[in-house]
Amino acid sequence: MAKGTIGVTTTNIFPVIKKFLYSDHEIFLRELVSNAVDASQKLKTLALAGDFNGTTDDLKVTVSLDKEAGTLTVSDRGIGMTAEEIDKYINQIAFSGAEEFLAKYKDNAAAIIGHFGLGFYSAFMVAKKVEIRTLSYQDGAKAMMWTCDGSPEFEMAECDKAQRGTDIILYVDDEEKEFLEKGRIEALLNKYCRFLPVPVVFGKKQEWKDGKYVDTDEDKVVNDIEPLWARKPSELTDDDYLKFYRAIQPGQEDPLFWIHLNVDFPFTLTGILYFPKIKNNLDIRKDRIQLYCNQVFVTDSVEGVVPDFMMLLQGVIDSPDIPLNVSRSYLQADRNVKKISTYITKKVAARLAEIAKNSPEEYEKKWDDIKIFIEYGMLSDESFCTDAMRFALLENVDGKFFKLDDYKKVIEGEQTDKDGNLIYLYATDRNAQYSYIRAATDKGYDVLLMNGQLDVPFVGMLEQKQEKTRFVRVDSDVIDRLIVKKETEAVQLTEAERELATTLFKSQIPPIEKTEFMVDFAQLAETDQPIVITQSEYMRRMREMAQFQPGMSFYGEMPSMMSLMLNTAHPLVKKLIDEAVVATQNELKPLDEELASTQNIISAIRNLDKDGKGVPEDKKQDLADNEKKEQELHEKKTAIITEYASGQDKVKQLVDIALLGNGLLTGESLDKFLQRSVSLL
Ligand code: ADP
Repeated sequence: MAKGTIGVTTTNIFPVIKKFLYSDHEIFLRELVSNAVDASQKLKTLALAGDFNGTTDDLKVTVSLDKEAGTLTVSDRGIGMTAEEIDKYINQIAFSGAEEFLAKYKDNAAAIIGHFGLGFYSAFMVAKKVEIRTLSYQDGAKAMMWTCDGSPEFEMAECDKAQRGTDIILYVDDEEKEFLEKGRIEALLNKYCRFLPVPVVFGKKQEWKDGKYVDTDEDKVVNDIEPLWARKPSELTDDDYLKFYRAIQPGQEDPLFWIHLNVDFPFTLTGILYFPKIKNNLDIRKDRIQLYCNQVFVTDSVEGVVPDFMMLLQGVIDSPDIPLNVSRSYLQADRNVKKISTYITKKVAARLAEIAKNSPEEYEKKWDDIKIFIEYGMLSDESFCTDAMRFALLENVDGKFFKLDDYKKVIEGEQTDKDGNLIYLYATDRNAQYSYIRAATDKGYDVLLMNGQLDVPFVGMLEQKQEKTRFVRVDSDVIDRLIVKKETEAVQLTEAERELATTLFKSQIPPIEKTEFMVDFAQLAETDQPIVITQSEYMRRMREMAQFQPGMSFYGEMPSMMSLMLNTAHPLVKKLIDEAVVATQNELKPLDEELASTQNIISAIRNLDKDGKGVPEDKKQDLADNEKKEQELHEKKTAIITEYASGQDKVKQLVDIALLGNGLLTGESLDKFLQRSVSLL
């Protein structure tokens, strides 16, 4: 029997392994089974090259438990190891700067294991003693046994072993007894080994006999050696893809469609990505895409590996170019991984373009479900955006779909304003904005429906991408001012009339929470509505964007600014303003005169300030007094007009009708409106 010291510079690596690799103990099984699979595949390669003449049909990996002996064994029928190979691969772990490295990465077990090829040694995370029994495939090879109890010393000797291959026997630590539980091992094999390319056997198949389940003679294979993604797309049916989806995402609605990734150059990558049904909830779960490296499960947290918006997809990605044992931050920085991410994005875009082109009806039908994904992608990924401009759709209020370019052609004729801007009209609610939509369609305009969760930023992005393009919601102004075709007519009111009309109408707007009103005037057609409520596109969008950008919360807290737009060409509006002028002029006249003289005094005093340093000291009081007086005179005027307005049912009625049209008339105000309506009749 030979004794020796394992070639590491640290006196005793095993306590270090145990201590630092604590959180990831379970991966020992993945490491050992992967090694066994590798050894099996190497034998296949040798057979293909004619360097091995025996059969490779019996290749399998067997995991077994012996509770009494306290052992877990991983056996394979692979190439095995000679004494020299054990010495080379197991005894001499290339280990430079180990302590330094361990100190640096002590929180990241995977990185340590990957860095040092410590795969086999991860067995010591759970075992107090490890035994290797192995017989190389080479002619005349002698079976060897190697044991180590976790100290740097090992023993090696010849042993009896008739069958080619390797058994790794773990004497499980008392603190790690869970790894002797059938259920635990089953779960681990299912997690890490489910798609390994060599059959992995754990226990026997069971059958129902005499009222209970009993083992049969048949091995239970826990993996699928040729998972769907590793097969040729041309051999697969839709049903195959759906079945696979149901297997990896149990309990989910069937996906909308899928993409089979398959590339050999400049890196190797296969995989299947599914588009799940996501409706109105942008729930990004981080475990929907599983990453494999040669069918060995690596991770299901792909954050940073695929672009954020891709995390809405589900499925598997397999690439030998994905480093198996590294931390996620390492993964994200890896150049291969970046290339992979770019490639996947391109592929997904190409597939969507293909579906949009070849099955437009199916694509439109599913648009509602994938829209959020595409918009999210376009907003967050420049290159995806460029591609998606070709297949993103716009839907109008009649439920018709258009590609961006096609839609442009539809509206170009009618919806270009006098300055050459193309105006896209949209609504966010077919019912609530019904009358505005109708006003627009009556004019021969088309109105889009933009009620998606990401439509606000999406619209902003389209405006940036396309020159001379503006999106305006149908209720953000009266229709003639949404798309200004010619200079609008000047409003036919004097300054004094404007002021009076403003107070006349504004004073009759009932208080509405978090909403402020301005009165505005437009000289529209006589037949247009006398009064309309609009909400500035700019302000509304700022408020809505605040939801998406934390720095903008200031806008989100501001009240909504609405405009009460009076059509000064409408006979009723004209009449109400004229009547108000007549009715209040006697009372207002002396106030106006006094106001005029006060304002003269104020400007005379202000004029004394020649050098911008302020008015002379002895005039300051005088100025303050007059400013106060001016203020009071304004208030008196307002009071007189308000008093008059409060007796004008028609003014109130007009204001209320406009509010009603926007769903803003509720509660007591609505009740008053109804009563007034009856009495006016
Ligand atoms: P890695 O697999 O990253 O090379 P390991 O420590 O897991 O590192 O294994 C070291 C080497 O030991 C392997 O490269 C292989 O040559 C050999 N080895 C490990 N397990 C087996 C096995 N079951 N059969 C044959 N050789 C093995």
